[in-house]
Amino acid sequence: MMNLLRRSLCCTATLFLATLASAQVTTVSGTAQCQDRPYNMNGFTGVQPFQAARFCRVEAVDAGGNLLGWGETDGVGQFAFTFPDPGNSGVRLRMLAQSTTRNIQIQDSSQAGNPIWAVQVFGPTVNPPNNWNVGLVQVAVINDPSGGGRVGNPFNLLDEALNAMTFLSQQVNLGNPPTIGQTINIRWPRMGNNSGGSFYSPGTANIQMGNVSACDDTIFHHEFGHLVHNFFGDSDSPGGLHALCGGGQNPALSWAEAWGTFWGSNVMKSVGAADPGIYVNSTGLAGAGALAFSYRLEDASNAAGAPLCAVVPTGGTADELAVQCALWDLTDVPGDNPNNAADDDPYDGTVFPGGLTPWAAQWDVFTNYMLHPANGGTIPNNQNMVFDHFWDGWFVRGYMNNTTAVDRFVTTNAAWSIFRDIWVDAAATGAADGTFANPYPSVGQGFITAPSGARLNIVSGAYAESLLLGNKVVRLIHGGGAGTPVITGG
Ligand SMILES: [Zn+2]
Repeated sequence: MMNLLRRSLCCTATLFLATLASAQVTTVSGTAQCQDRPYNMNGFTGVQPFQAARFCRVEAVDAGGNLLGWGETDGVGQFAFTFPDPGNSGVRLRMLAQSTTRNIQIQDSSQAGNPIWAVQVFGPTVNPPNNWNVGLVQVAVINDPSGGGRVGNPFNLLDEALNAMTFLSQQVNLGNPPTIGQTINIRWPRMGNNSGGSFYSPGTANIQMGNVSACDDTIFHHEFGHLVHNFFGDSDSPGGLHALCGGGQNPALSWAEAWGTFWGSNVMKSVGAADPGIYVNSTGLAGAGALAFSYRLEDASNAAGAPLCAVVPTGGTADELAVQCALWDLTDVPGDNPNNAADDDPYDGTVFPGGLTPWAAQWDVFTNYMLHPANGGTIPNNQNMVFDHFWDGWFVRGYMNNTTAVDRFVTTNAAWSIFRDIWVDAAATGAADGTFANPYPSVGQGFITAPSGARLNIVSGAYAESLLLGNKVVRLIHGGGAGTPVITGG
């Protein structure tokens, strides 16, 4: 037995040494970059600089594509990791549009199964040195594999997703490195055809980017805003097609669409974008320009400086452009808009009464007040979440505790024809907006200090606050089912 055991140990040791000799461990290092397509109100600038490919997976694979080792770049695109060198059979490096630590991946949805975008950036190399520095590796913009002459960059989508995650992690604790607890899947282009836009799939962490939109950062951030809304707020948007000009759509749809764009502009602001308050929709074609349309949230203007919605003026809670412009007025600051150094609203981005910045206040309202009971809130289930709830939340959460605060809020919203609409049905059963037993008492409390000119719409029927409001400075106009004013006073 003893002899057998010794022999066994002996042979095992020999085998171990042999394995070490043929599998030299190599450390590979370098710096990874991806190409960006900067834009402004006129579309792409035409300059396509390389930027650090941050928190991006780099893999060493053998000639057959088998994984030998992997690492992730840091915040400036540098990477270093070890792998067992296959020697004469060669090694190659590839970059994946994936952040393993942050649980984000960009998938090629033109391929069945949606594989993660991967690009060979170095190799094949036979017998690399033990300390193998490959220097700079770069991923350029990529042709849309479904055709049409469009170019995008899944690595740019990853970079923008990282910006969004960083900003999100400044609002809520997502751990370090930040994740939302499940994989965020971002897909581009659309499977099998050249048409179709970008969308977020409710209830998932999946974002589909349209063929034309892989370098349209503002569209990506809009869709990511829907994801944030779904995970951290409460959305009643029916989804589907929506339009910027017209104002006749479902206010719940308009609220969700507007908040997504508003979120996106604040992400761009957080990373110091030169002109964060714009939305740019490109054609995705190569070269400078390639603009489908753009608009500015400061004043709802288009690239020519004219009103984006010329026929129907932008305004009202059903108008998603009006809502996003009103929201942006809360958080934009002087200097955001290259065309107007002075800002055009009472909010300058600094702390205001209540002790928070307008951004932090709206985040509190959005995530803590605008919730149905199943999500920990008090908004009745039969009400779709709309701007009116946002309005109420500023009162309920204590940000309207003095005349100046109310005046700023009402004035800013009024600029976009947004007023607090209280809808109570004629039978006073309270089906439309709030239960009759609980018709937003805080709204009335807030309106006690509302400035003259603030408007409240009351549909006919008993309403707990009408007496209170009727004696105050609030001017009440509009009215019953036929549009007849029921109260006008001042
Ligand atoms: Zn949307």
